Amino acid sequence: MRITCVGGGPAGLYFAVLAKLADPAHEVTVLERNPPGVTYGWGVVFWDDLLDELFAYDRVSAQRIWDAACKWDEYEVRATGKAVTHLAGYGFSLGRHKLLSLLSERAVELGVRVSYRSDLSDTPDADLVVACDGAGSQLRSSAAVHFGTEVSLGRNKYIWLGTPHVFDTFTFGFEKTHAGWIWYHAYPFDENTSTFIVECTPEVWSALELDRLDAAAGCARLETVFAGHLGGQRLIDRGNGWMNFRRVTNQRWDNGNVVLMGDAAHTTHFAIGSGTKLAMQDAMALADALALPGDLPQALERYEHRRRAALAPLQRAALASSEWFERMPEYADLPSTRFSYALSDRRGEYPLWRYLLHLSTQRSVPRAMLRSALSARRWSRARRRPDAEPRVPLLTGG
Ligand SMILES: Cc1cc2nc3c(=O)[nH]c(=O)nc-3n(C[C@H](O)[C@H](O)[C@H](O)COP(=O)(O)OP(=O)(O)OC[C@H]3O[C@@H](n4cnc5c(N)ncnc54)[C@H](O)[C@@H]3O)c2cc1C
Repeated sequence: MRITCVGGGPAGLYFAVLAKLADPAHEVTVLERNPPGVTYGWGVVFWDDLLDELFAYDRVSAQRIWDAACKWDEYEVRATGKAVTHLAGYGFSLGRHKLLSLLSERAVELGVRVSYRSDLSDTPDADLVVACDGAGSQLRSSAAVHFGTEVSLGRNKYIWLGTPHVFDTFTFGFEKTHAGWIWYHAYPFDENTSTFIVECTPEVWSALELDRLDAAAGCARLETVFAGHLGGQRLIDRGNGWMNFRRVTNQRWDNGNVVLMGDAAHTTHFAIGSGTKLAMQDAMALADALALPGDLPQALERYEHRRRAALAPLQRAALASSEWFERMPEYADLPSTRFSYALSDRRGEYPLWRYLLHLSTQRSVPRAMLRSALSARRWSRARRRPDAEPRVPLLTGG
C-alpha cells in the first residue's frame, strides 16, 4: 500500500513507524512543511499508560523515549499569599523537538521517506492519505474533502514559553497582580530547560498590556510578574504567541482515502496534557485497524469507532479542567490546602479518601512515604514492560 502522512508531528511520524513495522512492503512517506529540527512548542508530559503502549507497539522507539524522558514525582502548587502545597502523582516529560527527532530517526531506519519543507495542502496521490497536519489542518479544510469540522475557542489566553530555570517538579504557580490572577503550568523536560505555559483571563491579559507588547517586551513583563518563581532566569518565546485554545471536532474522520489523525481530528485542552498521547494512540488504532481483514473503508470505520469511544471520557475531563481554569479567580480565596485540592480535583471525580490523603501528605514524612511508594510502583511497572530496562533513578531526575 502507498501511504502518505501529511504532517510530521507525533501522529504522522509514529503512524509511519507502525505502518512500516506492520508491513515493510508498504511505501510510506511523511510530508512535513518545516525543515528538520524546526517545530513549535517546548516539552510535553505523559504518563505510564502511554509508555506501556509504546513498549507494546514498538519497543525500540519506546526505549529511546524512555531513556530521554525527564522523570518527576509530585506536583507543587505555589500561589500568592498561600503556603506551598503538594499533590501526589508522577509523570514524564520530553522536549517536543527530542520526541520528533527520535520518531523521525526510527521512521527513516525502517525505510520511511520523510520529506521536509514539503508544504502540501492538496490531496496527494496515494492509496491512503493520513491528514495529521495539526489543529489548523489545511488538508482537512481543502475543497476536495469534507469532514464537518467545527472549531470553537476557549475563553482564556495562553502562551507556550520555555525557560532555562529547571523546576524541581511539575509546578502550578498563581500570581495575583493589580489586574487579577495569572498563572503558569511548568515542568522540567531536560537538564537545562522547563516548559512554562502562562494562562489568564482576557481581561487580565489586556490590563497587563500583554495584548500590545511584542514578544520580547511580553516576556520581560511576565518575568517581572513571575520573578519569585524563575530564580532570576528568563522566559523564551519561540514565536508561538498568545492563543486561545482551539477545540476541534469533526463529524466524520474519513472521506474517501483521506483520514484524520491527532489534532487534525480532535484537540484536547493542554490542562490535562494529553494531546500527544492521543495522537500516538490514534496511530496505534489505525495501524491495528489496517492489519485486520477487510477493505480500507472498513478499516477506517473501525479506527474511528475505537478512537471516538476512547476519547470521550478524556474530552470530558479536559473540558472540566479548562473550565476550572476559566473560573480560577472564584477559588482564589480558599486556604492553601483546599485551593490545591480544588485544583487537583478540577474534573470533580475524586472520592473523599483523596482529600484525606491530600491533607496528610502536606506533612513531609507521609509525603516522603507516598513518593517512595509511587516510585516503587513506577519501577515495578517499568520492569513488567517487554524487554524494557528500568534504568531511571527511583526519585526525580532525568
Ligand atoms: C500549550 C500546549 C501544551 C501542550 N502540552 C502537552 C503535553 O504536555 N502533553 C501532551 O501530550 N500534549 C500536549 N499538547 C498537545 C500536543 O502538542 C498536540 O496534541 C500534539 O502535538 C498533536 O500531534 P499531531 O501530530 O496531531 O499534530 P502536530 O504536533 O501539530 O503536528 C502537525 C505537523 O504538521 C505539520 N504541517 C502542518 N500543515 C502542514 C502542511 N500543509 N503540509 C505539511 N506539513 C504540515 C506541522 O508543521 C507539524 O509538524 C500541548 C499543546 C499546547 C498548545
